[in-house]
Amino acid sequence: MTQTSHDVQRLGEKLREQQALLERNMLTAVEQGRQAAAEATQDVADQAVSSYQKELLFTQGTTGHSQLSQIRLALERIREGSYGECLHCGNPIGVRRLEAVPWTPYCIDCQEKIENGEIEDPVRAA
Ligand SMILES: [Zn+2]
Repeated sequence: MTQTSHDVQRLGEKLREQQALLERNMLTAVEQGRQAAAEATQDVADQAVSSYQKELLFTQGTTGHSQLSQIRLALERIREGSYGECLHCGNPIGVRRLEAVPWTPYCIDCQEKIENGEIEDPVRAA
C-alpha cells in the first residue's frame, strides 16, 4: 500500500461527490426526456427530432450509469479495504492515478493492456 488511510478517506469523499453529481445529472436527463416527449407534436419532422433527442439523452444516461457503477464498486473496495490495489495484478495503483480517476480499478499498466485488448477486462466482461 502506497497510500495512507488519509488518502483513501479523501478519495472516498471525492467518489461520493462525483456519485451525487452523476445521480443529479441522470435525474435531469430523465426529466428532460419526459419534457421532450410531452412537447412532441404529431408533425413528422418534430417526431424525428424528438426521437433523436431521446436517443441522445438515453446515451448520456447510460454513460453516466456505467460510471456510477464503477464509483459504487470503488466505494465498495474502500469498505473492504482493497481500494487502491489493481484488480488485475494486485499492485498498488498509485495515488496520482487515483487522484485523477478515483474510481479506476486498474493500475496504469493493466489499463493500457485492457485498452490494447491484451488482457480481458473482468469488470466489463462480468
Ligand atoms: Zn495492474
